[in-house]
Amino acid sequence: MKFLKDLLFPRTCLNCGLLGSHICLSCQKKLKRIEKDNCFYCKRSGFLGLTHPACKKPNGVDGVLSCFYYNDVLKKILKNIKYRLTREGLTELFRLFPEETYHKLAYYKRLFPDLAVEEIPLHSARQKQRGFNQSGDIAAFLTMSFGFPRAQNLKRIKNTFPQSQQTKHRKRKDNIRNAFILSKEKLIPVRHIVLVDDVITTGATVAEAARVLKKHGALKVFVFTLAKG
Ligand SMILES: [Zn+2]
Ligand SMILES: [Zn+2]
Repeated sequence: MKFLKDLLFPRTCLNCGLLGSHICLSCQKKLKRIEKDNCFYCKRSGFLGLTHPACKKPNGVDGVLSCFYYNDVLKKILKNIKYRLTREGLTELFRLFPEETYHKLAYYKRLFPDLAVEEIPLHSARQKQRGFNQSGDIAAFLTMSFGFPRAQNLKRIKNTFPQSQQTKHRKRKDNIRNAFILSKEKLIPVRHIVLVDDVITTGATVAEAARVLKKHGALKVFVFTLAKG
C-alpha cells in the first residue's frame, strides 16, 4: 500500500524538492539542534529550560524545551507541511528529534508523573480549512512516545492573524490576548501540563495559554516546541 502510494505520489523534499523523502539527507544536516536550554523569561541558560526561581511570574511558564532552531530550512519545511498538507513530513521530523530531547522529556515525566500534553489549538475555522493542527500532531507523538495523556482543554475563540505576521512584540501580545478559553466547564483534571506548539518566537501565545490554564487550576505549565525562533 505504501509502495503504491509512493509510486503515485512520490515523496519530494519539502525544502529542496529532491525526490525520495520529505526531508532529504542533505537538508536533514541543515537542521540545527538546540544545544542549550534557556529560561523562558530572562533567556539566560537554565537547567532543562526550567524557569529560574527568581524569574517566575504568577500564572506564568515554568519551563521551555525546543528541538531545533527555526532556521530557513525548517521554516520552509514547516510552511510546506502546512500548505501542502503533508502530514507525513511531520513524522519524518519526529524521527529526527535529538536524543537529548527524549531524555529531557523523560526527566520532566519523572518529576511530574501525571504530566499531560495540551496542544495550542487552532481556531475551528482554520482547523476545518486545514484539516489538521501541526501542534496536535506533535502532542499525539508525545502521547505515543511517553504515554502522556492528552488534555485538549483549551479552545481558541479568536481567529488571530498568524503570529509570524505580527511584527512588534506588543502587537503580538494584543493579538493573542483572550484568544483561549477552557473547552470544558469543570476544572482541568490534570495539574501538570506540557503545552505543545510547533514554533516559539516571542512566546506570547504560550504565555497566554499558560495564563488561562493556571487560572483554572494548573499548577505547572511547561512548554515544548519543535522549533525556536
Ligand atoms: Zn532537501
Ligand atoms: Zn531566568
